Parts: sequence; C-alpha cells; structure tokens
Amino acid sequence: MKRLLVLEDENSIRSFVVINLRRAGFEPVEAATGAEALERIKEYPDIRVALLDVMLPDIDGFEVCRRIRSMNSKIGIIMLSAKSQEMDKITGLSSGADDYVTKPFSTAELTARIDALYRRLGADADEQDEDELRQGPFILNTRNRMLKKNEERVKLTQIEYSLMHLFMTNPGRALSREEILTQVWGREYDAEEKVVDVNIRRLRIKIEEDPTMPVYISTVWGFGYQWNA
Ligand code: CA
Repeated sequence: MKRLLVLEDENSIRSFVVINLRRAGFEPVEAATGAEALERIKEYPDIRVALLDVMLPDIDGFEVCRRIRSMNSKIGIIMLSAKSQEMDKITGLSSGADDYVTKPFSTAELTARIDALYRRLGADADEQDEDELRQGPFILNTRNRMLKKNEERVKLTQIEYSLMHLFMTNPGRALSREEILTQVWGREYDAEEKVVDVNIRRLRIKIEEDPTMPVYISTVWGFGYQWNA
C-alpha cells in the first residue's frame, strides 16, 4: 500500500489529484491546511510521500515541509507550486523537499514523479517496512506499538502487544505456553502458565471474527498456541 499525503487548500485541485492518484494505485490522505497536514502525518505513520502545496491559508508549504522533516526525515516530499520561478525551487529544496512540480501539471507527470520518488526511497508497496509487520489483515507497527486490522486500530494492552509481536515474528510455529511466558512476561516472572491462556482469550476477543472459533490464534492441544495469518 502506497499511502501518501496530499496537502492542497483548493478543493477542486485536491479532489482531482486524489481521484487520479487513487486510480493509479495510491492511497491518498487529504489535508486542506498546513496544521491538518501535520496532524495527518502523526496519525498515519505509514505515509511515505507528501505532496505539499506552497500557497496555503495558514502556514506556507515550505514551513510544513520543514516541520515534517523535523518529525520524520524518511518521508519523500514533493512541493506543488503555481509559480515556476527558480527562487521557489531553491527555497523548496533547501527546506528539505525532494522534488518540485509546477502547476498546472498533468496526472501522468505527477504520478511519474511520485513513482520515481518511491523508487528512490525504496518504499514500494511490496517492500516490507522495517517498522511494520504485515500479515493477512494485520499490520503491527513496532515503532508506535499499534495494531491495525483491516485498517482499523485495535487497542491492545502492553502484554497483548507483546503477544502479537511474538506471534507475528513466528508465523506458523507452535509456541509452547512456557516459551510464550518467558518471551512475553520475562524469565524472572514467576507466574502460572494459566496467565497465558487468560491473555490469549482476551486477545482473541479483540482480533478474531469469532473468538469461540479462532482462526488466527489456534490452540495446539496440550502444548500452546500457533499464529496463522
Ligand atoms: Ca494553494
């Protein structure tokens, strides 16, 4: 999935860009102001590319670019500007932008630039991000410890997160209760293996379609559990 941010205050231009990017296989997140754009960046840690209009009602696009850079240096940034003056280009690139597109632009030109940027970033949809584990409908972000199922956030306790992490790094492997206990609770933790069952039951309620007929976390009788996604 190629999630990208589209910051443009003019509704007609933004809709046009968004519709065409969606057709081209991208997943655009929209923002109409600089402040909104910064919110979206925090909200979606998987945004890899940001398209930033320069002329905005609140803060200008270059400032947005600088602030995004200070939060996340890995995002690719393309500035969109109505003006073609070389001066803009210099300001844009010195504020940390990677590329520059002048309005009016064609969809073909824009998508070509975005594709080129994705290639440079090595952030193609198929490539697994180092901060994310993706399996079936699940995305586990190891940086902010957030789980999503079918793009919906699933709220987890720290223990449940650790269980998910253990499972998703060991797909298809039967894990014994003892191993789960050691990996998740730690060696020092002197607990009964029952605590594993209790937490698995709670986790199933959160992630399974039908917790009484679990598909993702299956029971390995007399042994432990296995992750299948
Ligand atoms: Ca504008």
